[in-house]
Amino acid sequence: MSLYQLTAHTLHKKLKEREITAVELTESVYNRIDAVEPHVKGYLELTKELALEQAAAADAGFQNGDDMPSLAGIPIAIKDVICTKGVRTTCGSKILRNFVPPYDATVMTKLHQQGIVMLGKTNMDEFAMGSSTENSAYQITHNPWNLETIPGGSSGGSAAVVSADMAICSLGSDTGGSIRQPAALCGVVGMKPTYGRVSRYGLVAFASSLDQIGPFTKDVTDCALLLNAICGHDPMDSTAVDEPVPDFTQSLINDVKGLKVGVPKEYFTEGLMQEVADKVNAAIAVLEEHGAIINKDISLKHTEYAIATYYIIAPAEASANLARYDGVRYGYRTEKPEDLLNMYKKTRSEGFGPEVKRRIMLGTFALSAGYQDAYYRKAQKVRTLIRKDFDAAFEKVDVIATPTSPTSAFKIGERTEDPLQMYLSDVMTTPASHAGLPGISIPCGLTTDGLPIGLQLLAKPFAEEMLLRVAYSFEQNTEHHKQKPNL
Ligand code: GLN
Repeated sequence: MSLYQLTAHTLHKKLKEREITAVELTESVYNRIDAVEPHVKGYLELTKELALEQAAAADAGFQNGDDMPSLAGIPIAIKDVICTKGVRTTCGSKILRNFVPPYDATVMTKLHQQGIVMLGKTNMDEFAMGSSTENSAYQITHNPWNLETIPGGSSGGSAAVVSADMAICSLGSDTGGSIRQPAALCGVVGMKPTYGRVSRYGLVAFASSLDQIGPFTKDVTDCALLLNAICGHDPMDSTAVDEPVPDFTQSLINDVKGLKVGVPKEYFTEGLMQEVADKVNAAIAVLEEHGAIINKDISLKHTEYAIATYYIIAPAEASANLARYDGVRYGYRTEKPEDLLNMYKKTRSEGFGPEVKRRIMLGTFALSAGYQDAYYRKAQKVRTLIRKDFDAAFEKVDVIATPTSPTSAFKIGERTEDPLQMYLSDVMTTPASHAGLPGISIPCGLTTDGLPIGLQLLAKPFAEEMLLRVAYSFEQNTEHHKQKPNL
């Protein structure tokens, strides 16, 4: 196997034993990028020069015999919604096309403390609004398993580059499913941590009560390593909870005996592709064979309202968060405006794409006087009901298992004309986002057309360890994570 195909934990051993150097590894990944990126288009920007410097620094540490962190010298890709000091951060938007952050997001500071190698910034739906990465103002990313299909979204670039071996792992962000859904559609592991587990400082805000940064990896062990690196309290983000962060590698235990797995009927309804249901049921059967106790008697009865609720709350928050892009303080400004008001209007109308404008209008409407009670407040109440459903379910079970996405990857262009169809891609992921729960998507097989299917596991807030344990056990007893796209 080539170096670019390996996992971070395998590569760490090789680096530590000085069997390979980080510079060699980084070059191997860039060679792979040269070969397949023209087909996949997962990156918006590559930072090779910087990466090679970072790799050389890691090598110096290994050569010194220093006790190097697990991610030292590991090539990692970063979603372009995360601020990277001195490296352009566009958020997939024209309005930020020239924005170079003067500071690093907290997750970047933490990754640099580990000595990672940053490969570049990955493509995404503009401001993380979308489920297919087709809303990027720059390019369309192709799913490595079938280049005519979408990679999922909004972190489609981050999922595709890991799937295509153009990065060892990557970071994405998940507001309503943007890590889990593309992970499922690209056949990689993706985790959305508990809301508050990871600092959002330096994450460009979409919907602040939902946004969370998390990892994409080739296996569950790497997911634990990346989580170890990014989690923790941060005085720069008042919602980054001061909870102890365990060593997540301790949860990599191949044992599900006696664990209670809930399977909610509300997730196996109309609109779910038969092949997806079959593979997810087969995955649940694997857990049962290994001693897990399956409980189909849990009810998440407000699930059907999750999408409607999400498309009130997320746009409402987005409309407030995006007010700052006015042509005065950030990025793009229209040329030769007639007056100040006209400058604001033209800047925003030229700088934002259609989906972002749609969300701003929806959100502004839902928050406006006279409609706020009917929409925004009502949505908040339903959000509480969704959370209460989960609280009750977790009295009975340790984890909940569902499909991650109702379908496998769809064709490029198939849903762009119909926003409602696009929004339905997130029916299985938004409920946990409302409740702030941690969720992981792991590969559980392929459709007859050879497209990946994901199993979603959910747990109580701050129970990432439970998710990792179940996901790891599944992985140890199956081969799905070893399947690779044929690029
Ligand atoms: N697809 C959902 C949306 O368009 C979720 C996006 C996300 O999680 N960032 O809002």
